[in-house]
Formats: sequence, structure tokens, C-alpha cells
Amino acid sequence: MKKGYFGQWGGMFVPEILHETFMQLIEAYEAARADSTFWQEYLEVMANYSARPTPLTYAHNLTKHFGGAQIYIKREDLNQTGAHKANNVMGQGLLVKRMGKKRVIAETGAGQHGVATATMAARFGFECVVYMGEEDVIRQRPNVFWMEKLGAKVVPVRDGARTLKDAINEAFRDWVTLMDSTHYVLGTVCGPHPFPEMVAWFQSIIGQEARRQIIDQHGKMPARVYACVGGGSNAIGVFQGFLDEDVELVGVEAGGKGLDTGQHASRMKGDRAAPGVTQGYKTMFLQNKDGQMIDTHSIAAGLDYVGISPILADLGEKGRVRFEAATDTEVLDALTLTMRTEGVIPALESSHAFVQAFKEAPNMSPDEAIIINMSGRGDKDIFTIAKAYDDPSWKEFIISQADGFRK
Ligand SMILES: *Cc1c(COP(=O)(O)O)cnc(C)c1O
Repeated sequence: MKKGYFGQWGGMFVPEILHETFMQLIEAYEAARADSTFWQEYLEVMANYSARPTPLTYAHNLTKHFGGAQIYIKREDLNQTGAHKANNVMGQGLLVKRMGKKRVIAETGAGQHGVATATMAARFGFECVVYMGEEDVIRQRPNVFWMEKLGAKVVPVRDGARTLKDAINEAFRDWVTLMDSTHYVLGTVCGPHPFPEMVAWFQSIIGQEARRQIIDQHGKMPARVYACVGGGSNAIGVFQGFLDEDVELVGVEAGGKGLDTGQHASRMKGDRAAPGVTQGYKTMFLQNKDGQMIDTHSIAAGLDYVGISPILADLGEKGRVRFEAATDTEVLDALTLTMRTEGVIPALESSHAFVQAFKEAPNMSPDEAIIINMSGRGDKDIFTIAKAYDDPSWKEFIISQADGFRK
């Protein structure tokens, strides 16, 4: 198979001027991969800075509630900055150190990848610039606040719809002008080669741990593993631990207001995506008949992306990963139940995986185990969640805060 391809998906469609930079990155990545001391250093950094290995928590109360499969939760919420994103940014940070570069740039939509990159840059002493659509800068103020306090420069992008895909284009433009000093820390398992393969490698730490842990705790392989799918990095991360076993892998996309409403971000389960080449790679993109990217919707900002990892497009096409979609309403119900029964607060993104697991667990046998990958914690979603619950005291609080500023 051609390098950088997964079946018919992937590739490296980059401007001529970036060719040299990509070759250099591929070389550095392949050298790191061949050098076991690199992975050793990565494990040490992740243990010391990001609380790895993260636990595999047995969800005693949820298991009892549903009365079917044994439910385990992989706790990626306990990472630095509260999600699996730390696995990727710290890995790329170590690679930047090896390449001797001093400046990192990143794109961000909801701001979570921007915050993760800003922490990494602060820790390693890199200059950091984050590109963010102007719309997102306004909507995601708390994350912009933290990025700036962590020392990053946030650049609002005023092109196009002023959201994530415009930020990605702007980050590539920056890279073209400053490629000698700069590394582009791409946020998920998408984009041109080597990013999908490289980010998947860093995220494979989730699956490696989960595999060991489920054997220790349950004595055998799980029957199914569930993960939410935005770009696909947490899903690919956990799935890699089970690809060569008889384990069913389930990716859950954003069903938004319902697949029949058009307001969702489901590329594999829905019928609005088609093969396309943009942003440097080939995958299934949500687009209209003229190839224009369409607006996506999800209650979870991190699942709101038009493309999907070429690795998952391939595994989906081959039938190795089953795709499902969860609606915004289902997500809130699953989140509510999980908080009340287990005392953990999954991110809105992660809650998509819980929805599908909850639909299936009751029909499974108590002899079987399932793993839900909890990609992140939901504290960051307090504004969205409180609004969705229509919590009156919260409304009063927000208004009183605003009044405080006006005085
Ligand atoms: C960013 C994010 C996601 C979506 O990204 P993937 O690349 O699909 O994993 C999911 N969950 C959380 C908590 C996130 O922050």
C-alpha cells in the first residue's frame, strides 16, 4: 500500500513549497518511531505531567442499572487539560524538541486543542500561535482567555465562515511562510500524511493501557468498545488496542438534531458525506452536490467537523468499525444518568459514546464487558449544559455577572 494511504483514503496533498517541510517531519517521525527511547521518554512525560496511565473504572452502578454487560469507563478525562488531546500535543512537543524548532502553531475550533497546545508550549518553552475562526473566538471566550494566559497568541481568522476549516487554512498559510522555525501541531488524526498515522501513534497509548487493564480486571477481552468520533483521534486511540482481536468497535458520531434534519455532523452513519480531497487529504466530507462543505451541527463543539480520519473511513468501509449516531437530546439524557449514578461528568463529546453503549448494554450478557472511552471531562461544557437544562438559577447568575461588569 502507498505510504500515507489507508485503503483509498488519506494521502499527502500539500503545496509544493511545503514539500521539504513534510519530508523533514516524516523523517523525524519515522526516526522517533524506530527509537524505543523516544517512546520511553513519552511514557515518562505522560506519567509525570498527565497522570497516565489513566484508570479503567468499573462502572458498578451503571452496570447494575442496565443489568446486562459489565460496563468499564476509560478515564481520559483525568489527563492534563481534561481530555485525550494531551496525548497528541505532548507527543508532538517531544518531536518538535528533537527537530530543534522553537515555534508551534495550531488550529482550534472549540478551543480545546488550542488550550492543550498552549500548555505544551508553555511547558517546553516554545512560542505558540493559535489560529481560530473569528466566530469561535467570540463563542469560546473561556478557552481564548486560558490560551492567552498560558502565553499563546490567538489570531482570529476572518475568512469564509470564520470557523475551524478556515483556521486550518490559515495555519497552513503561516507554516508556508515560517516553515524553518515552525511546527504545525495538527489536532486530530486528519490532514495530510504523516499526521493521521503520527497522531494515531501517540493516541495508541489509550488502547495499550485499556487492553492491559481489561485483562487484569475482567480476565478477558471486552465484547465491544465505544468511542465518540469527531476527527477520530480518541476513537482510533482506544480501538488500536483491540483491532486484531474479536472485539466489536463502535464509533459514535454527532447526530445533532437527527440524521433526517440535515443538522448533524455524521459522515459515516448519515448520507450527506461523499469522498473528497481538501485540507491535504482524501476522506468522506460533509458536502453538497457541488462539493461545497456544508454547515454541521452538534451540541458538542468537538464533534462538529466536516471530515473524518482517513483511518476510520477505511475501517468503516471494511466493516471493521461500526458507526452509529447520537442526537443532542440523547446525549443530555446519557450525561444526566452518568453523573447521577457514577459521579463522573463526561464531556458532551464523550457522552455520545455513552448513549450508544446504554442502548446496547441491556441486551448483552453479564459475562460480557464493554469499554466506553470517556474522551474528556464535562466541566468545560457548563455553559452549554446549563443552558440546555434551562436552569433558572444559572440564568440569574450569568445576568448578575454581566451586571457586575457594567457597574
Ligand atoms: C476534541 C475532543 C473530541 C473530538 O476529537 P477526536 O479527534 O474525534 O477524538 C472528543 N472528545 C473530547 C473531550 C474532545 O476534547
